[in-house]
Amino acid sequence: MYFEIDSKVREDKGLCMLRNETHRFAEEVLRPAARKLDKMADPEMVIAEGSPYWDALKQMKKMGYHRMFLHPEYGGLGLSAIEAHIILEELGWGSVGLATAIGVDQVPPGIASLFAMGDIIDNLVRPWAEDTDAKFHGCWGVTEPECGSDYILATQESFLPHVAELHHGQVRAEQCGDGWAISGPKSGWLSSAPAATHVGLHVVLPPYDSLANGALCIVPLEQKGVTKGKPIDKLGMRDDPQGELVFDNVYVPDEYMIIRPPFYEFRVGQVLCLTSSFMGALFTGLARAAFEEALEYSKNRIQGGKPICEHQAIKQKLYSMFEKVETSRYYTRKVMEHVWEKIYVEGTFDASSRHALCGQIYSKRSAFEVAFEALQIFGGYGLTKDFLVEKLFRDARAGLIEDGTTEVLGLSVAYNIIAEY
Ligand SMILES: Cc1cc2nc3c(=O)[nH]c(=O)nc-3n(C[C@H](O)[C@H](O)[C@H](O)COP(=O)(O)OP(=O)(O)OC[C@H]3O[C@@H](n4cnc5c(N)ncnc54)[C@H](O)[C@@H]3O)c2cc1C
Repeated sequence: MYFEIDSKVREDKGLCMLRNETHRFAEEVLRPAARKLDKMADPEMVIAEGSPYWDALKQMKKMGYHRMFLHPEYGGLGLSAIEAHIILEELGWGSVGLATAIGVDQVPPGIASLFAMGDIIDNLVRPWAEDTDAKFHGCWGVTEPECGSDYILATQESFLPHVAELHHGQVRAEQCGDGWAISGPKSGWLSSAPAATHVGLHVVLPPYDSLANGALCIVPLEQKGVTKGKPIDKLGMRDDPQGELVFDNVYVPDEYMIIRPPFYEFRVGQVLCLTSSFMGALFTGLARAAFEEALEYSKNRIQGGKPICEHQAIKQKLYSMFEKVETSRYYTRKVMEHVWEKIYVEGTFDASSRHALCGQIYSKRSAFEVAFEALQIFGGYGLTKDFLVEKLFRDARAGLIEDGTTEVLGLSVAYNIIAEY
């Protein structure tokens, strides 16, 4: 286990116990499940009844990890930022795929707990928080077949009008009686969608002139008019299934339209601050996992008459990997503390999106660089399915695209800096 340089954290018995308990869970539950899921030849097996995906999801819910991002008044765990970060780093260490599944699970109840009031709290948020049997499972629908990076650029805090107006949105909502009718396709990249019961869905509103004229609503998926695509076959994060969702005149009650104009751009920016701090912590965990695998291997593999860690070139790599893991942890923790304070403590919802995105980008890039070097340290063995490092490398590669490519997230930060720094 890593040495904690923050003495306030190191000397806090509660935090040490939390870290140890979550680490044990990640090692005993997530890793074995993730490796089985990763090796399944047919991605449909991942979501089949009895698959380790469901068991891991239920066990995560029993631990309460599906309540981390819910408002504490409505079933949330009421964690501090540091507690949340410690848990997420360990879950990412165990499996970024399964950790992503428990992350997107919280999008529908999370947005309702933060931005809605009334019956939806008792009818959806509280039962969701209490569910430990995975009767509820959420996903997040942003990306559309014709609109990937542009949706990301159009839904940042400082909406980019020139990008938003290029698109009229493929998933649209129109008023229908006292609710809304939703039609259109979301892309095949929605994490956990093939297994989900609800989606937090981005839609465009009349007159459909811009992505900025949008809303974020909750759509129950077990109803007429919803078609779920098959899980896609892909390179990394094979332990979390992605698939498309297509809507054909699907009814949504008005109270399920959670974020809407004139608050859409502002509140979605804050949701992205939360998801970015989540990702920053997860990929710190992945980076640490790859570093630890490589360190252990380098002590045991003998070449040139000695363990390879005794060769200068390998020492240099190990140092550089260690530096990336450490900087990633303490930077993303700081970002999470800021986001947490603004959203859950002060309730002012003015967290800095450029810092949150920066933390996410830094952590994902570091994770990829560390996993790349870790695989290199394993030599030929690193390419085989027998060693975890091969999966970590593929998962880290997927991370550079998931939730927005690191280039496009960086572009968004640059626009924000130029406009507001
Ligand atoms: C593992 C995984 C999980 C995902 N989970 C979800 C999910 O849960 N929900 C969801 O909605 N989506 C999800 N996505 C989708 C993800 O957000 C998109 O893949 C991502 O935003 C990129 O969109 P795209 O794939 O359409 O690429 P494109 O937008 O087509 O981009 C292609 C290339 O062009 C570059 N590019 C695009 N625009 C610009 C520009 N303006 N300037 C410079 N370069 C540019 C990009 O960086 C990229 O290299 C997931 C993706 C992955 C890989």
